[in-house]
Formats: sequence, structure tokens, C-alpha cells
Amino acid sequence: MDKKKKSDVAVLLEYAGSYKGLTFLGLGLSALAMVLGMLPYICIWLAVRDLIAAAPDWTSAAGIARYGWMAFAFAALGILVYFFALMCTHLAAFRTASNIRKTGMAHLMKTPLGFFDNNASGLLRNKLDGAASETETLLAHNLADIVGTIAMFITMLVLMFVFDWRMGAACLLAAVVSICAMAAMMGGKNAKLMAEYQAAQDVMSKAGTEYVRGIPVVKVFQQTVYSFRAFRQAIEDYSNKAEHFQGDVCKVPQSVNLTFTEGAFIFLVPAVLFLAPSALRSGNFAGFVTNFAFYAVFSAVISTALAKIMFAASGMMQASTALARINVVMSAPVLNVTDDPQTPKDNTVEFRDVSFTYDGADNPALDHVSFRAEPGQTTAFVGPSGGGKTTAASLIPRFWDVSSGAVLVGGVDVRNTDPHVLMDQIAFVFQNNRLFKASILENVRASRPEASREEVQAALTAAQCDDILAKLPDGMDTVIGTEGTYLSGGEQQRVALARAILKNAPIVVLDEATAFADPENEALIQKAFAALTKGRTVIMIAHRLSTVVGADKIIVLDSGRVAEEGTHTELLQNNGLYARMWQDYNQAVRWRISRIEEAC
Ligand code: ADP
Ligand code: MG
Repeated sequence: MDKKKKSDVAVLLEYAGSYKGLTFLGLGLSALAMVLGMLPYICIWLAVRDLIAAAPDWTSAAGIARYGWMAFAFAALGILVYFFALMCTHLAAFRTASNIRKTGMAHLMKTPLGFFDNNASGLLRNKLDGAASETETLLAHNLADIVGTIAMFITMLVLMFVFDWRMGAACLLAAVVSICAMAAMMGGKNAKLMAEYQAAQDVMSKAGTEYVRGIPVVKVFQQTVYSFRAFRQAIEDYSNKAEHFQGDVCKVPQSVNLTFTEGAFIFLVPAVLFLAPSALRSGNFAGFVTNFAFYAVFSAVISTALAKIMFAASGMMQASTALARINVVMSAPVLNVTDDPQTPKDNTVEFRDVSFTYDGADNPALDHVSFRAEPGQTTAFVGPSGGGKTTAASLIPRFWDVSSGAVLVGGVDVRNTDPHVLMDQIAFVFQNNRLFKASILENVRASRPEASREEVQAALTAAQCDDILAKLPDGMDTVIGTEGTYLSGGEQQRVALARAILKNAPIVVLDEATAFADPENEALIQKAFAALTKGRTVIMIAHRLSTVVGADKIIVLDSGRVAEEGTHTELLQNNGLYARMWQDYNQAVRWRISRIEEAC
């Protein structure tokens, strides 16, 4: 287990890059500082020795002031060295944390965009931030303390046996007993119990978060905390485990541990009593008392050292949690980028026998789909919900890569094109297009950063956003999401369309929004669509069949398969799924109109 933890730290240190040396320098200095910090104890002992030698003529103990100054100098030097040690470790730790963030972000930049559908980017960022700050604390403080403590412990061991090995052994015995108690508490099957106890704590905090998220539901349905069985269960489980672990497992060993660390002289006193008669007989009783004084002073250090070891050991656990978090980010799949990119010849989009299954799904979302979308034409996907329309559309800009078959843009497999070239060629508007918390200008410009203000204005006008701009306090410089400037779903969709229009890409992939469409927005969105799609290769997911009547090609997707393909007229003649959908659609429209007439 220890070995694994060491390697965790080693892995984290890899992120320090050229600052790794600085970490080691800091650790070395920290060890030195600890040793310096112990020297005043020796000075005190030297003073005591002089006093005892001089007794009862105290004035002849001339060296005492000197020892006092030495003790002061060592203490001051220890503090100074520790300061520099921490400066080194902090500098290295900050750099390491920043490298972890950078490496993680760089990795996420290479993941397919679809990855963020299933893994909220905020959560990923939290993981990365958490790991970075944990590593920072670990490298800046804990490691330095651990190394310092080890240095202190070794110095202590040496000093213990320098003056009188028998008294040293007596002091050490107390330390051994407390270390054994600690080992009994942490090791063996208790390690498993401790892991379970910590896991229960995790479960409880997650259930707590769920509960807080669910508060609106709690209020609306007049529920109490007791109706949240999972949360309640988690709390009970945790409290049982905590009680068992703290009470049954830790009580005795922890009491032993504390007794012997705090009372390190417990064996020293009997040992001294035992040794005293022979010391008296040998004639060097003063020397004996001096040594006893040393160990009496020194046993106080033992408890500090042991407490530090405990503390540092728990700090080491951070290394593995930090690493686990980093691994979540770093194990995100990466989009393969070809070494030998080919240039798309034109703006056709073609699916060749494409199948795609989401990670962990049982059934394919797309099952042997083939079709061709010609340049300058509009190809529409229609079909029942869950049929695979969004999936098909997201394979074109490589949100995901196909499981088998190929998606071709301009006659080239999208996997063999430079991702930047592909992205420049395609503009997409999906239903969940997010606007950043930035000005409208910046939001629109995101698709083409070098665009001028006038170009952005033109795109906004083409996307029918003039009415939005008119009501915002600072026009297109208004920052969305602050001071009550929130846009409705339909308005957001139009700003997203402006972004796509500004991009001026030859291929447009769009998921028509009906969820947001109040009648007024709907008409404007239709106009914006027209501006965006003119003269381009358009692949459109249509939710209202009225928008696909004029499409050059309609592809009906059902359960991941192409059920039908053709123009509106052809499909009606086919009298298949599309014809039925068309009938239902018209009925719904008639129903709506008759309701409106009734109301009038
Ligand atoms: P449509 O857009 O036609 O409603 P989708 O392409 O969204 O259909 O979904 C096709 C199938 O893939 C559905 O069965 C859906 O549950 C599944 N699916 C969609 N998105 C994901 C995802 N991110 N992870 C796993 N399964 C998904
Ligand atoms: Mg969809």
C-alpha cells in the first residue's frame, strides 16, 4: 500500500516539469530546518550539564549565556531555512497545479465534443480544479512536513543513543508502543473498515447534494426529509459505520497511542530508578543526572514528532484522491487526428453504411444508415423521437466517430480531414446551443473571431435579432445573464443562428427548435433559417413537417434505420411512415385551428 502511495506522489511530481528540482530542494531544506529546530534542545541540555557540573557554585557556570545565544541562533536559522524551504515547495506546487490544469484542459480539447453531452463540463472542471488544489497543498505543505518529520525522527533516533542508550531505549519503547497501536488501528482488516467508512461518507455527501437539488420537489409535493429514503439510508449507514469504526475499532488503540505519545517518559522513570544505584556506585552520578535531564527534555519532542507523522500520513491520502480525479479527466477519449489530412473536394455530405452505438448502450442509435446530401440542397431528417436524427447530425462535425461505416464530407472520410478544416466547413445550430455569459457581440463572434462589428451586426439582422438588440440596454454589448438580461429560448436560438450565419460555412447542420417557438418567435426563426441556409448544403432536423415540404430530400429515420427517403410528394405516394406522420400532423394543425376559431 505504501509503495502505491509513493508512486502516486511520483506521478503527481511528473506534472512539476522543470520545477521538480525545486521541489526536491525545498524538501531538502525542510529536512535541514527540522534538524536545526532540534539543536536548541541540545543547547538547553548543554546548559543544564554545565549547571549540574558547577553546582552548588552556580556563578562558575560561565557558558550558559553562550548556550542561550546558540539556542536562539539555531532556532532563528531553523525558521529562516524553513521559510526558504516553503518558498521553494510553494513555487513548485503552484507550477505543478497550473500544469495539471493546463494538461487536463489540453486533453479535454482533444476529446470529441459529444463527450461533453454525457460529462458536464462544469463537473470536469471541478475535478481538475480539485485535483490541482489538492496537489498544491500536498506538494507545498504536506510533503515538506513529511520529509521534515522523517529527518526529525532520524535525528531523534541518533540523539537517543548518543548519551545513554539504556535511557534512549526506554524513551523509544513508548514510541514503539504508540506506533504499534496506530498500526493496529489502520492495518489489517481495519483498513477495509476505514475504506468502507470513508465510502459511506462519500455516499452520504452525494445523497445530500441530490437532496438539496430536489428541494423544489420537496416543497411542491410537501414532502419531508424522511421521504428521501436514499438520503436517510445514507445518513444511517454512515452513522452506523462511524460508530462502529470510532467506537469498536479505534477506541482502545487510539487511547493507547495517545497515552504513550503524550507520556513518552513513562518507561524513562522506571529505567532511571533501575539504573541509579549502579550510577551512584560508579561515582559519575552527576553525568547520570545530566543524561536523565536530556532524555526528560527530549521525550517532549517525541510526542510532537509522532503527532506530525500521523498528520502527514493523512495528507498523503490526498495524493491518491487527487490522482484519481486527474485520471477521470485524462482518461477521457481522444479524437484521433490524422497525420495525413486530405482536403474535402466539395460540400457534399455522405453517410456510407453508418452504424453508431453510444458507449454503454445496448442498441445502436444508427443502424446501417446510408444517404447523400448534395451541395446547395436541403436534406431533412424526420421521424419519431429517439429515431436517431440528432445522432446522425452530430456525426457530421465529429461530435462522435462512427462505430462502423463512414461519414464523408466532400468525398473525404471526416476522420481523414484536418479537424480545423472540417470545423471551418460546417456551421451547426443544435437545440442545446449554449450562449456564454458574455456580450451578444462576443457570443456571435465566437464562430469567427476576426469578424468586424459591422459583420456581426449584419449577421444579427439576418437572424432577425434586431428586436432583441432594441430592447437591451447596451445593444449588442449587453452581457447576457447579468442584471436581469435573460433571453427567452426562442431569442437564444436566434442569437445562435446569427452565430452560424456569421460563420458563413458552406455546410449547415441544424436542429430546428420548436420547443421554444411561440408563434411570434417561430416566424422570425423561420426567416433566420432562410438567411442561413440559402445556397448551402443544409442538413436539417425538422420537428414540424411544414418546414420540410420544400426540402430536396427527406430521410425518415426510425429506430436508427432509414425507413424511407424521397421528396414530400414521393413519400406521400409511398403511403408509409411519412404519409402517416403527415396525416397526424395535419390533424393536429386542424385541431389547433378549430380550437382557435372556437375561442374567437
Ligand atoms: P432523435 O434525435 O431522433 O430523437 P437521438 O439521436 O437523440 O434521436 O437518439 C437516438 C437513440 O440514441 C435514442 O435511443 C437515445 O436514447 C440514444 N441516445 C441519444 N443520445 C445519447 C447519449 N448521449 N448517450 C447515450 N444514448 C443516447
Ligand atoms: Mg433529437
